[in-house]
Amino acid sequence: MVHVPPIKLIRTPCYDRRGIQPTWDNTKGVRLETDRVTTSLEERIAAAQARLDRRGLLDALRALVQIPSVYDPAVPDGNERLAANFVAGLLDDWNIEYRSREVAPNRPNIVADIDGVRPGPLLVFEGHTDVVTAGDRAAWDVDPFAGEIRDGRLYGRGACDMKGGLAAMLFAARALHESGSEFAGTIRLAVLADEEGLMRGAKGFVADGELDGAAAAIICEPEGDRVCIAQKGAIRLRVTLAGRMAHGAMPEEGANPITALGLIVSRCRTLEREIQSENPPHPLLGPFYLTPTVALAGEREQGNVIPSSAELLLDIRTTPANDHATTIERVTAAVSAAVADVNGVTCQVEVIDDRPSTETDPEDPVVQSVIAAHRAETGQHPPFGGVPGSTDGTIFWAATRVPLVTYGPGITTLPHQADEYVDLDEVVRYARTYIAAALRFFDLMERGGG
Ligand SMILES: [Zn+2]
Repeated sequence: MVHVPPIKLIRTPCYDRRGIQPTWDNTKGVRLETDRVTTSLEERIAAAQARLDRRGLLDALRALVQIPSVYDPAVPDGNERLAANFVAGLLDDWNIEYRSREVAPNRPNIVADIDGVRPGPLLVFEGHTDVVTAGDRAAWDVDPFAGEIRDGRLYGRGACDMKGGLAAMLFAARALHESGSEFAGTIRLAVLADEEGLMRGAKGFVADGELDGAAAAIICEPEGDRVCIAQKGAIRLRVTLAGRMAHGAMPEEGANPITALGLIVSRCRTLEREIQSENPPHPLLGPFYLTPTVALAGEREQGNVIPSSAELLLDIRTTPANDHATTIERVTAAVSAAVADVNGVTCQVEVIDDRPSTETDPEDPVVQSVIAAHRAETGQHPPFGGVPGSTDGTIFWAATRVPLVTYGPGITTLPHQADEYVDLDEVVRYARTYIAAALRFFDLMERGGG
C-alpha cells in the first residue's frame, strides 16, 4: 500500500528503526513501498503498536513476578533492587538511557526519558517495583513467586499490583522508541520503589525535580478498565491517652483512659455523620469516612486494673470537598471535648500521615487521550472511576497538582489478595493503549488542545 501524505513528510530517519531496511531512496528521492514514514496520527499509532513485542512483554512480566520484591530489611535482597536491576537490563537492551538513584539502601528508582523527534510536553508513566507480602502461603493455590500461567492468566504476588502495568508501560515506551519516536514531547518512565510503604520512591522522584514541568502523569495501577481521574485523600491520626493506674475496685483513685477512648469513638461517629451531611457523596469517591482502626488499652490478663494509658488510631478518608487542615482541627476538637469529660485523663493527637485527595479535569488532554485510546482498542467508552486508596499519584499531586489518570491492567480488588493474577491479553491491550494514549496526548497538546 502506498500512502500519500496529506501535509508533511518526515524524511528522517531514512531507515527502518531496526536498521535493516532503507525506507527512503535518497538517490531517487522517493519513498520505498516499505516506507513507514507516517504523517497521520492513526498511522503513527498503528506503526508503533505494530512494534509492540508481545512475547518479550509477557516474558518480562513473568520474570518480574518471579522476583519477590517484597520489602523486608531482615531478608537479603528483601527489597526492590533485583526488580529495578531487571528493568535497567531491559532499558540497556533497548538502548534507552536511564538514571538510577537509591531512595533508601537497595531501594532504587529507575527513571528513563524517551524524547520525541520534536520538543514538547513531558508525560510521565509511573509504575512501582515493590509488592506486598504473600502472607499466608496456605491461602494460595499457586506459589506466589513462581510466575505460573493458567488459562491465559499469570498468577503471583504483584502480577496485578502492579507488575502487569509496569511491564505494559515499559514495552509501550520501547515500541514508541523503536518506531522512531514520532511525537512532540518527552515520555518519562518512572519506575519507583516503596509505593506500598511510605512512598519514598515517589517522594524521591519529586525531590529530584523529575516531576518539574510535567504536563500529565499516567499511573499504571490496576483499575479494572476504569479511567480514574479522582483519588481519595487520607489522614491518619494517633490519639495517645494518659490516665492514672488504679485497682478496678477503686476507680475513684484512678483516671480511666479507656472511658475517654470510648467517648472519643462515639464522638467521632457523630462527627463523621455531621461532615458527611455537609456535602453529598463525591460521584466518583463516595462519602467522607472517619474510622477508628486500632484501639489499644489494658492487659488481657489484668481484668481488675485500670490502665495508665491507651492508644487509638483514626483512619480518615476525604474527598476534594474536605479541607485537610479544617478536618484535622475538627477531629482534634472532638477528641479534646471527649477527653475533657473524664477527670484526670489527658491526650495528645499526632498526624501520622496526610495525603491529599486528587481530582483531574475530565476535559484534560491526558484524560481525553486515554479515553480515546481505550475506545479505539476495546470499542467501548470507559467509565470514569475514583481510587479509594492512595497511589504514588497522590505524592505527585501534592507536589505540583499535575493532571493524573490512574489506568492500568487488572481487577481493582485483587491487589494484596491470595491468588492475585493478571490476564495476559489484557496486559498486551494496555501496552497498545498506552502507545496510543501517549501519541494522542502529544498530538492534542501540539494542536493546542492543552
Ligand atoms: Zn500498587
